[in-house]
Amino acid sequence: TTLAVAPAYAQKSKKKAVLPRKTIEQRVDSVLALMTLDEKVGQLNQYTGDAATGPAFNDPNKVEQLRTGRIGSMLNVKGAQRTRELQAEALKSRLKIPLLFGLDVVHGYQTTFPIPLGEAASWDLEAMRQSAHVAATEAAAAGQHWTFAPMVDIARDPRWGRVMEGAGEDPYLGSEIAKARVLGFQGEKLGATDAVMACAKHFAAYGAAQAGRDYNTVDISRRALWETYLPPFKAALDAGAATFMNSFNELDGIPATGNAYLQRDILKGRWNFPGIVVSDWGSIGEMVAHGYAKDGADAALKAITAGSDIDMESRAYSSHLDQLVQSGQVKQTLVDDAVRRVLRKKFELGLFDNPYKFSDVKREKAALNNPQHRQIARDVARKSIVLLKNEGNVLPLAKSAKNIALIGPLGKSKLDMAGFWSVNYDSTTYVSVYEGLQNKLGKQATIRYAKGCGIKGESQAGFAEAVQAAKAADVVVMAVGEAYNMSGEAKSRADINLPGQQEELMEAVLATGKPVVVLMMAGRPLTFAYTAEHAPAILYTWWLGTEAGNAIADVLVGDYNPAGKLPMTFPRSVGQVPLYYAAKSTGRPSQNDKDTNYRSAYIDQVNSPQYAFGHGLSYTQFEYSNLKLSKNEVGDGETFTASFTLTNKGKVAGEEVAQLYLHDLFASATRPVKELKGFQKVMLKPGESRTITFTIDKDKLSFYNNDLQWITEPGEFNLMIGSASDAIRLEQKFTLVK
Ligand code: BGC
Repeated sequence: TTLAVAPAYAQKSKKKAVLPRKTIEQRVDSVLALMTLDEKVGQLNQYTGDAATGPAFNDPNKVEQLRTGRIGSMLNVKGAQRTRELQAEALKSRLKIPLLFGLDVVHGYQTTFPIPLGEAASWDLEAMRQSAHVAATEAAAAGQHWTFAPMVDIARDPRWGRVMEGAGEDPYLGSEIAKARVLGFQGEKLGATDAVMACAKHFAAYGAAQAGRDYNTVDISRRALWETYLPPFKAALDAGAATFMNSFNELDGIPATGNAYLQRDILKGRWNFPGIVVSDWGSIGEMVAHGYAKDGADAALKAITAGSDIDMESRAYSSHLDQLVQSGQVKQTLVDDAVRRVLRKKFELGLFDNPYKFSDVKREKAALNNPQHRQIARDVARKSIVLLKNEGNVLPLAKSAKNIALIGPLGKSKLDMAGFWSVNYDSTTYVSVYEGLQNKLGKQATIRYAKGCGIKGESQAGFAEAVQAAKAADVVVMAVGEAYNMSGEAKSRADINLPGQQEELMEAVLATGKPVVVLMMAGRPLTFAYTAEHAPAILYTWWLGTEAGNAIADVLVGDYNPAGKLPMTFPRSVGQVPLYYAAKSTGRPSQNDKDTNYRSAYIDQVNSPQYAFGHGLSYTQFEYSNLKLSKNEVGDGETFTASFTLTNKGKVAGEEVAQLYLHDLFASATRPVKELKGFQKVMLKPGESRTITFTIDKDKLSFYNNDLQWITEPGEFNLMIGSASDAIRLEQKFTLVK
């Protein structure tokens, strides 16, 4: 079949008649028609390149599999040169179908950005889009077609090590960030050489692992699934995410990888997802350990039936799918559909036209050494820092500060700045806090460093030296927290305290009476009751990436006014977990921290968090005033606005993230007492005022009823605007009428 009308370029060409180009669907069909069953199964088989990057790749069997079309994609093969070499092997196959290369480019490739949870604290969607775009530019130049990111799992349990990889606890914020990241990775359209395919993962509810233990059972209500865990996936899909990854966990008795409700009914059915579903690493095979599949063949049968297209490293498809089709247990059309999805993306990326398009040694060199990328990384890093506390305005430090003690196990660390899930672990490319301070304050300042203790060890042998350094200084900067590999995959912790002897070190240093500024570096919300109570100033700096030290120095001296807000609740102690702001009222709500008698409360701990979702201070103060609703009675389907005045009352310019929350006071299913429904990040000069307007449409007033229909009900709502979920500054009620 040809197109009815030849495209413009074909009509204009005078040199020779150009045949109208076939559509991608037509080209997919024509390739599929040529394929044997083995070749089809090959497209669904994904191998790691771990073994392929060393001499072990001389494994003739693997080369043979590439040459015979038995491998459709590979992960963990890095670099333009290496990807070219393996592509060349795949192109020796009968049909010359190009290979796809995928990698976990989670927060940067060569240039490392803050960990995703840290970036989420910026609430700056454009900054997150841009960092994902830079990561894609570098990765795509180095041979990658596909990143296994963003992770869009909502997580409300800081014991779970993978909270570092997501956007925190809130479905609204998480959805906005999911969109920004997908757009950043993919650009406008696949096929550009500065874009890679995004992968929304892990579908679904992986973040709800019981007790925060990675890979553990998930048993949540359908309501929680739809209301809390699915929205960021839908947002990623709407933004055009080319691929989805399923997950290790079971959901309601069925492993996600074999879960037809998730993958067939919701994703490929209701949501009409046209892209690829890749399994998580080995997750097809793991259905045997779950007790859901009898053996590898049964696992392959269940996975393909449930809608898993690519088998990442289980080798269940490559071992069994052929046989399953021949015996009639798996319909050929199921396999064809999965293969079509893979071929479609290979065409969209332009790989059939130029299989080496992304593996460009020259472009790789330029992209990985682009100084502008470091500049962007510094900017995003500053935006990710959250000022938790600033008593007596210890911060910002005077630029003329001459005598500083830098204390703590992370003060000179470069490697830890990389954070978990980095592609680049060359520590020489990272800026430590020590170096950042030197760069900022020049040679005239004395910066005395004392480690004090290790991150994890029990020794206090270094305390005396640290106390000496503090005594000799005018101001102390404490750099404490987690090592880069203490939060991440398979890094769940039952105790989320600041590890080792670091709180004890804090106590010893604070006892000197010197002003102390704490830099808390971690991949998750930590508990640090002593520090929170006694240290005058605390900056939460996560793991900030390549430019960590410079970004921190910018904030310390006030060259940058911090504006980050927590994307996750910080509990006071691990026993409060899960603790999140969008909680429901109980029949016996505790009115305040002292109200515990036959209340929903603890007898040994207050209910309130250490730091609430949305919390984050500035070096200036903002005033909220003059709230006006365009309507107090809203008809169903009507859109209305809430406007207020935001004023910078302080002496320095600064940004504020104004947050809109709603509470549906009475409904046919209980509603959270606060749900984020909007936010705006605004820069104001000292003394400046601005009118901020939020638009509230029907969607923001809707919820899932008990039949899981997305509906509105008439009744009263409370509208709240504030600088944090626990710092509501303005509120007003309105009524939805039908
Ligand atoms: C993780 C995925 C990751 C994959 C490939 C798995 O263990 O759960 O998020 O994309 O490995 O590295």
